[in-house]
Amino acid sequence: MHGILSITAWLLLSCLWENVVSAHAPTQWPLQETFAIPPKEIAVIGGGAAGTSFAYFLSQSELRDNVSITLFEATGRLGGRALSTSVNGTKIELGASIFLTENQNLYNATQTFNLSVSMRPAKSASRPPWALWNGDSFSFTASTSPSKTIVDMLWRYGLAPLTVRRLARDAANIFAQGAYDSSTAPLFTTVDELVDILGLKEYVDVDARQWFVDRKGIGEKYIQEIVQAATRVNYAQNLDLNAIAALVCMAAASGQAISVAEGNERIFQHYAKASEAQIHLDTAITSIERLSAQEKYAVTSKDGSTALFDAVVLAVPWSSPNPPLNLVNLRTQPFVIPYIHLHVTIVTGTLRPSYFNLASGSPVPDTVFTAPNPSIPFYSISILSELRNSSDSIIKIFSPSKMEDSLLTALFESIQGDVIRKEWDSYPVLTPKERTGMPVELDDGAWFVNGFESVFSTMESEVVVARKVVGLVEDWIKKRQP
Ligand SMILES: Cc1cc2nc3c(=O)[nH]c(=O)nc-3n(C[C@H](O)[C@H](O)[C@H](O)COP(=O)(O)OP(=O)(O)OC[C@H]3O[C@@H](n4cnc5c(N)ncnc54)[C@H](O)[C@@H]3O)c2cc1C
Repeated sequence: MHGILSITAWLLLSCLWENVVSAHAPTQWPLQETFAIPPKEIAVIGGGAAGTSFAYFLSQSELRDNVSITLFEATGRLGGRALSTSVNGTKIELGASIFLTENQNLYNATQTFNLSVSMRPAKSASRPPWALWNGDSFSFTASTSPSKTIVDMLWRYGLAPLTVRRLARDAANIFAQGAYDSSTAPLFTTVDELVDILGLKEYVDVDARQWFVDRKGIGEKYIQEIVQAATRVNYAQNLDLNAIAALVCMAAASGQAISVAEGNERIFQHYAKASEAQIHLDTAITSIERLSAQEKYAVTSKDGSTALFDAVVLAVPWSSPNPPLNLVNLRTQPFVIPYIHLHVTIVTGTLRPSYFNLASGSPVPDTVFTAPNPSIPFYSISILSELRNSSDSIIKIFSPSKMEDSLLTALFESIQGDVIRKEWDSYPVLTPKERTGMPVELDDGAWFVNGFESVFSTMESEVVVARKVVGLVEDWIKKRQP
């Protein structure tokens, strides 16, 4: 009896107490603060497309109030391999230069952040838009009349250009289905599982020549000349790269290519800012150690300082010979993959027709693609824009080694101002493999984004993978909620 009374009295009192408290309480009840679950501290390593987009999409997720994001970037700027400079008032991309309007993440970012985009500049009416250089002569030169180019290509290659275009569209649609369909967010722990989710398995275990010629029955000449020209300019590799990478190059050639007028890195700077992550520039991370007993990761930077995090996301290329940082006590590690060392040279000047065995005064094509002849010292040369009040243009060269001054003198009849040189560990050697064996989940609370680059490397695909890793992190957090 006494017990029942006291329970009734307690219930009454507690109801009264709640009413009193709610009448006077501030919006947040202080007791709640005492028992609130602290947000998960997430460290993101790398401030390129992958790291900044990961931070952004995690900050937009339903669990945004349950996370606190800190992003570490080794250099003094965000953007990674998206890097632009100005030449004579014109924005020039030294790294990733184009994306397509159907790249939903990048295109939507330009809309969200109000960034103006530029289309591929109109080609000069007086020069052929492109040609294929074999070291002695141009084996194919596109006409200034697009309809004549189509007729010439059909004459030389039959229906191969149309078939390859269709196959590239098909592959892009398959990728888009897996990349952008958010109705199901399948979990994965490896790059190979992700390749399956994206529907790309049939394209990764075979090289481009075998896939197009042996599997799809397309004429060898078109693949050797035109598809290979595209793989050389986009990935500095011949037809021995995997088929999906070659299809990405062909999709880029036939789609609506755009870039951000102020430089593509602006997208990633906006992602980082909008994420409200704490950003540490000039902070190279040297090691990450898993502290099992504390269920934490100790993240140590070059200056020796260490901070503890609940989870870590690595958004850095794991390029050979040395990984970018040490991982200690993690269940598994990414393995290093070779990246191609690429030289980008920007020259303001006029190309010398005689270098290409053209008569003096003949126009050199806007873009010179190349065949795999070891005596050709570059992969491609492109006229990016013509200067006003001068016959000179701004010209970009991709090459496997430095374009020495003596070589530039042979190639150009005039050069004005400084030559800009930038070197990159650009993209992985895109070897065909049935299974890459590359992990995405490295341990409980540790993920690696850039393993997918061994399949192909673009800004959009890096963002797609980063978004999918956000799904993995959300799942990890939910499983830890009481
Ligand atoms: C010359 C060139 C042309 C290209 N053209 C195109 C193109 O036209 N279109 C396209 O879509 N893609 C293109 N790409 C590929 C594209 O640039 C990449 O796929 C994409 O930018 C990779 O982004 P990411 O964030 O994964 O890596 P990154 O951009 O390399 O970012 C990694 C970041 O991590 C930082 N970092 C490294 N180690 C550490 C560390 N220990 N601690 C902290 N930070 C660290 C780096 O400084 C860097 O900022 C091109 C690449 C190159 C090089």
